[in-house]
Amino acid sequence: MTTAVIPAPDSGTDDLSVWPASTARTAHGGLAVGGVGLAEVAERFGTPVYVLDEGEVRERCRNYREALPEADVLYAAKAFLCRAMVRWVHEEGLGLDVCSAGELESAVMAGFPPERIVLHGNAKSPRDLGTALRLGVGRIVIDSPSEIARIAAAVGPEGRQKVMVRVVPGISAGGHDKIRTGTEGQKFGLSLTDGSALHAVARILSQPRLELTGLHCHIGSQITEVKPYLTALRRMVGLMARIRDSHGRILPELDLGGGHGIAYRPGEPALDLTTLAPRLRSTLTESCAAARMPVPRLAVEPGRAVVGPAGVALYRVLAVKHTGDTVFVAVDGGMSDNPRPALYEARYAPRLIGRSSTAARRTATVVGRHCEAGDVLAAGVELPGDTRPGDLIAVPVAGAYHLSMASGYNMVGRPPVVAVHEGTARLLVRRETPEDLRRRDIGA
Ligand SMILES: *Cc1c(COP(=O)(O)O)cnc(C)c1O
Repeated sequence: MTTAVIPAPDSGTDDLSVWPASTARTAHGGLAVGGVGLAEVAERFGTPVYVLDEGEVRERCRNYREALPEADVLYAAKAFLCRAMVRWVHEEGLGLDVCSAGELESAVMAGFPPERIVLHGNAKSPRDLGTALRLGVGRIVIDSPSEIARIAAAVGPEGRQKVMVRVVPGISAGGHDKIRTGTEGQKFGLSLTDGSALHAVARILSQPRLELTGLHCHIGSQITEVKPYLTALRRMVGLMARIRDSHGRILPELDLGGGHGIAYRPGEPALDLTTLAPRLRSTLTESCAAARMPVPRLAVEPGRAVVGPAGVALYRVLAVKHTGDTVFVAVDGGMSDNPRPALYEARYAPRLIGRSSTAARRTATVVGRHCEAGDVLAAGVELPGDTRPGDLIAVPVAGAYHLSMASGYNMVGRPPVVAVHEGTARLLVRRETPEDLRRRDIGA
């Protein structure tokens, strides 16, 4: 992953290491991303607004393709999806992973080839499965035993659907309890240790309408170490060997999921793709050799590592208030456009943009505008002491799980998405208006 570190004049408080590589300082304390001044974007499109650096997204896709040329890289659409994103990911040679009929239809309608799409979900609705079969999705990842007969019946007498099995390899990894999915006791997948994964495999193999192409696991999100992936890989190869021994079937594919961690604040660790890729490769070769199995085709499913660091959220300061010992800087967005701090105690490094300040820094808590005391975007951050209403605050690493998790809370409306690239800004997703919200309320 290349994130250019621009030398910081006063390092620590002016560190741009988690910003897109294209980030540049401009006159009077300004910052430009993708060749476009952020204050200019705020002026032209209003705030709050999400800015997405197209070049950074493409570069991150390319880094994955180059690091793992022999593997399928499937972008996890739930991190962020819009038509432009679908096009970029497709043009850069990635596949797609989706978890609903909505994501699937949006991708296919934007021109993504359905055979390059994998459908996930622990509870697939009839519409999810119907849409997947109608559009010809590449793989359906089976997450519970009841799906086997459902999918087989829905495929019909003429068809054949490629499927995988989601396995719980029994590995605890990930940035927060709520995003750990590799262990027993959470809702995803079929256990490797209690035999339910192997049992599901047997049932799928007995279904002539289903073609089992391989196994899948996704051990969690925001994982910054390589080791849990290698452990998962070995256990999955072990299960593939058992399937071969008990059924005489060699599965050609192994999907290791996503969860590749990124730095949200300067100095935080990130999963290093240039370390991960060769170690996955060597571990796969070794464990397959030990089990005397051919090497399956590998797939990975990064979401946040592709798009997270490419996004910046811009807010306007509406109020600054001193309460007790705390300075609250309240902005015109909050938990409706970024629920991650409230959900996972996620931490961010916001900064003042659009003007230079020589005021001494002081500790502040950046809060949103919503009617919840927990609507905190970033607590205990250093901001210039003269931060005041009308100022712009930028939050880097806002590209993943912001808009896709945004809500209609307080009827504020979801922010627009503006792509910046080679000096040009263009609107990808427009702002949600009060009219949009009212239109759904048919008033009966
Ligand atoms: C969420 C998810 C991903 C992507 O996770 P990131 O943390 O964004 O990389 C990949 N695969 C599956 C099955 C997922 O549920």
